[in-house]
Amino acid sequence: MKNPLLQNFNTPHTTAPFSKIKNEHFKPAFEEAIQKAKAEIDEITSNSEAPSFKNTIEPLDFSGYTLDRVSSIFFNLNSAETNDEIQKIAQEVSPLLSEFSNDIRLNEKLFERIKSVYDARKNLDLTVEQATLLDKKYKSFARNGANLDDTSKNKLREIDMKLSKRSLQFGENVLAETNAFEMHLTDENQLKGLPDGAKEAAKMAAKEKDLEGWLITLDYPSYVPFMTYADDRNLRKKLAIAFGARAFKNNKFDNQKVVLDIVNLRHKRANLLGYKTHAHFVLEERMAETPEKVLSFSNDLLEKAKPAAEKEFKQLSDFAKKDGIEQLQKWDGAYYSEKLKKQNFDLDQEALKPYFKLENVIDGAFTVANKLFGLQFKEVDTIDKYHKDVKTYEVTNTNGDFIAVFYADFFPRKGKRNGAWMTSYKSQWKKDSENSRPHISIVCNFTKPTDTKPSLLTFNEVTTLFHEFGHALHGMLADTVYPSLSGTSVYWDFVELPSQLLENWCYEKEALDLFAKHYETNEPIPMDLVQKIKDSSNFLEGMQTMRQLSFGLLDMQWHGADPTNIKNVKEFENQAFTDTQLYPDVAENCMSTAFSHIFQGGYSSGYYSYKWAEVLDADAFEFFKETGIFNKETATLLLENVLSKGGTDKPMDLYKRFRGAAPSNKALLKRAGLVEKQ
Ligand SMILES: [Zn+2]
Repeated sequence: MKNPLLQNFNTPHTTAPFSKIKNEHFKPAFEEAIQKAKAEIDEITSNSEAPSFKNTIEPLDFSGYTLDRVSSIFFNLNSAETNDEIQKIAQEVSPLLSEFSNDIRLNEKLFERIKSVYDARKNLDLTVEQATLLDKKYKSFARNGANLDDTSKNKLREIDMKLSKRSLQFGENVLAETNAFEMHLTDENQLKGLPDGAKEAAKMAAKEKDLEGWLITLDYPSYVPFMTYADDRNLRKKLAIAFGARAFKNNKFDNQKVVLDIVNLRHKRANLLGYKTHAHFVLEERMAETPEKVLSFSNDLLEKAKPAAEKEFKQLSDFAKKDGIEQLQKWDGAYYSEKLKKQNFDLDQEALKPYFKLENVIDGAFTVANKLFGLQFKEVDTIDKYHKDVKTYEVTNTNGDFIAVFYADFFPRKGKRNGAWMTSYKSQWKKDSENSRPHISIVCNFTKPTDTKPSLLTFNEVTTLFHEFGHALHGMLADTVYPSLSGTSVYWDFVELPSQLLENWCYEKEALDLFAKHYETNEPIPMDLVQKIKDSSNFLEGMQTMRQLSFGLLDMQWHGADPTNIKNVKEFENQAFTDTQLYPDVAENCMSTAFSHIFQGGYSSGYYSYKWAEVLDADAFEFFKETGIFNKETATLLLENVLSKGGTDKPMDLYKRFRGAAPSNKALLKRAGLVEKQ
């Protein structure tokens, strides 16, 4: 019997053949697909004709198609419906996949052909999309050192090896330091203020270690509730200092030297490749483009947010003073914020849930997509699925043309990882006269229905659904030629625009009236409740903004200049925090030694993206508010210039064509209540 994973599927008539796939199909499918992809590359490099866009770049982008399909089915299942066997296969195929991608990356013949097309690019009369593709392919080699001579190539390899060791070590140290601390409490009074759930978890944690009483650790699910709710200030202080001192204790898990090594290695690597700094290297492939632009973006926001932050800090300090707190400290922030928020808003999340029955919210998202883009979603049961809970839809446009297959997998179960995400089983592309449509999926972990109650979502789940649905629209509405530029294949400081933008509809009466109805009485949601959510989500927004900016600025300081002369991590960090500091410094604490986002994960020179994406979505939604949140023309501008275009052009140019101007932070400042509303 043929391996079902190796069968082609396309359009609604054939989709991923989940029910036919058995675990034993995966490895042979990977092996065969890798062979096929290799053969496709060989065909390009052995072509006797002179390299051209048509015989090199284009076939390269369409190569590995089967491998992509097998990979996306496999890795999506590993996230949404995994088991021990699948995880074992993942361990086995990962080395095969990295070997294959290394083979391509180091394929000199292939690079020579790409480079020859790239060098002639000015005379090739390429479309914008083709030029973007060529640039992307060329840089994927050049940024990995393909242009270097052998000595430099060896140097680069050495740096890369050291870097991956250091990053690994960084993470291991943080983990060891996180696990090394625990706070064992034996008097229930010490847990006063904690919600029952957090208390129970602490009790369980103690039990697991055969201890009486309660155990608080530095893991977020334990640490955060304790800092937010525990009345005992001394214990909060003890916990906060332990948290802030991770990998900063001059013991064997200390990360100070590791941090300095990492930033210096990154800097050397960037220099070797011809970039001024690591940040210049990273930002070349971002909407923000340069460290200078990130800095002016951050400083501009900081200037606006700082007065609000200082005012809020004073309010919070005054509030805490009534409790006898003379100087508000880091370990007081979350605690008094929560108390003040409760006093100001007294928001009961439970009261909202009856208005958000899952089925109604999905219909709401579909209706919004219909009003904006003319999309129709029809649930069909003929599409093969990997679990009975998955819902499947056929998506068409106003002309009845087929647009996409849409999968939605809403409820938690064993074998599904936490969180919510959008993904795809098949990307969109065009070849000859065919526009091959995408197969898109969203996966979530929402409140399940019970015997007596349907699935009723929290407001947070509602915005999550709209968020992932926004990513899904980006995928479904894709209309590009080349698969690697399609849909959500955009720079990562641009990828959250469609998703965060769509969340805005959840706060608008005109949109909520369409779907937010009480599941028993059909009564529409009271707008004063929605207003409360809006107001409370902006609570202490100035301080929040300043905190985010402080992390982003620290990241840029580490990576945006020559770090050779930095000797003292803590001193350097304090310098970087000068403009954003609200709380008194804690001498025994250091942020950088546990800043895993930028020293272990892939966020270096990218922390600014969180605020960047907010500025974009607020500015884009402002356009809808100016013209009407269901204005067809505005929606069409978004569709034609952003949603359908994927990564075919520079994001700033795409954005300007949609908005008529570069993004401004005015709308965000207004939405966040950081400037007076006009
Ligand atoms: Zn997202």
